[in-house]
Amino acid sequence: MSTAVEQNSSFKNYFSGLFNGISTTLKGMWITFRYVWAVKPVSIEYPEVREVLPERARMRLFNDSQNCISCTQCAMACPVDCIYIASEKLPEGAEIKKTSNGQAIRLKLTQFTIDTALCCYCGLCTTVCPTECLTHSHDYEFSQYTIDAMKYDYLAPDVKAWRDRIVKV
Ligand code: SF4
Ligand code: SF4
Repeated sequence: MSTAVEQNSSFKNYFSGLFNGISTTLKGMWITFRYVWAVKPVSIEYPEVREVLPERARMRLFNDSQNCISCTQCAMACPVDCIYIASEKLPEGAEIKKTSNGQAIRLKLTQFTIDTALCCYCGLCTTVCPTECLTHSHDYEFSQYTIDAMKYDYLAPDVKAWRDRIVKV
């Protein structure tokens, strides 16, 4: 048979346990509610919502081939040799066009391919380009199923459509 002192102590333990249970639950819930109502979310509803990238972000490269003079400086600067350029002389007497910054286009660009699977986005190629036709776009959505598909041909007909899409992004 328990004494009055023992009974008193078990009541105390019961209420102190109850108090602890309620107070720790409230503490935990307070952290949850703080994140639900007061803290700004750090995630976004991608792809409906997209991050606005910093102006100088270096994403997939784009060559505006109309302004490329086939000088190969970008390929020479590339530390991983992932830019493939081919060109040929213009036929005798052909009109020498100019780039938008006034440089003569003396060669006909026949291949401009970048293997973006190898590219390390260092930006050296864009820095040396004398006509500034090679730039980093803000397009970061270019995953592919095969490594080969990571090679982008900037003379391909669909490049214009891609450029229009990334300008809107
Ligand atoms: S960003 Fe760097 S690694 Fe990529 S193609 Fe240009 S120079 Fe090469
Ligand atoms: S450096 Fe610029 S102009 Fe020269 S080949 Fe490369 S992209 Fe074309």
